Amino acid sequence: MSKDAGRMLSSLCVFAGSSHGRLAAYAEAATGMGRLLASRGIALVFGGGHVGLMGKVADGCLAAGGTVTGVIPRSMVERELAHRGLSELHVVSSMHERKARMAELADGFIALPGGVGTLEETFEVWTWAQLGHHAKPVGMLNVAGYYEPLISFFERMVDHGFIRPEHKRMLHVADNAATLIAAMERHEPVATPKWIERGET
Ligand code: AMP
Repeated sequence: MSKDAGRMLSSLCVFAGSSHGRLAAYAEAATGMGRLLASRGIALVFGGGHVGLMGKVADGCLAAGGTVTGVIPRSMVERELAHRGLSELHVVSSMHERKARMAELADGFIALPGGVGTLEETFEVWTWAQLGHHAKPVGMLNVAGYYEPLISFFERMVDHGFIRPEHKRMLHVADNAATLIAAMERHEPVATPKWIERGET
């Protein structure tokens, strides 16, 4: 794909907290992200829960007429955590299967503010990208500066030789959803996957 053509994003997977967080800005950004995806005709893929920011993204997208696919482990359905108003709900047997299914269904991934679950999901898809296992863009929405300390830590990881600069740049960061999606549409997959580049294959 040429740089000018851009990348067609038909669906995006959003990782987000199962809590709302302390600032109202987090829920506003989650609802806004859902609404933006609907208005752009981009289908939402997410973890299928009705709780926290993840529920807000789904609600925002559905209220604006968007398509929402949830992927949730059976154990969470049994604990009544599933969102009941989705376009489609995939019930899977484990958290691992859930991540794999979300990754298959989406053309890219966005992290909203969240806790360890959100970070774990985001780091996994970023890891797969730097290994060249997929060519899909990964983005982080830095709402109200929530991710600032982590973004600084990524710089430290580069400075200390644990991430190559080009692999750090594969994670797109913005504080505005439309800007983030535009950067993801221009995403170029890693030219030199990590291991091959270091001659460690
Ligand atoms: P956390 O950021 O730790 O709140 O975890 C949020 C992420 O982990 C979401 O993107 C979900 O995929 C998953 N997750 C964690 N807790 C739940 C829950 N109660 N219901 C549904 N998914 C959850």
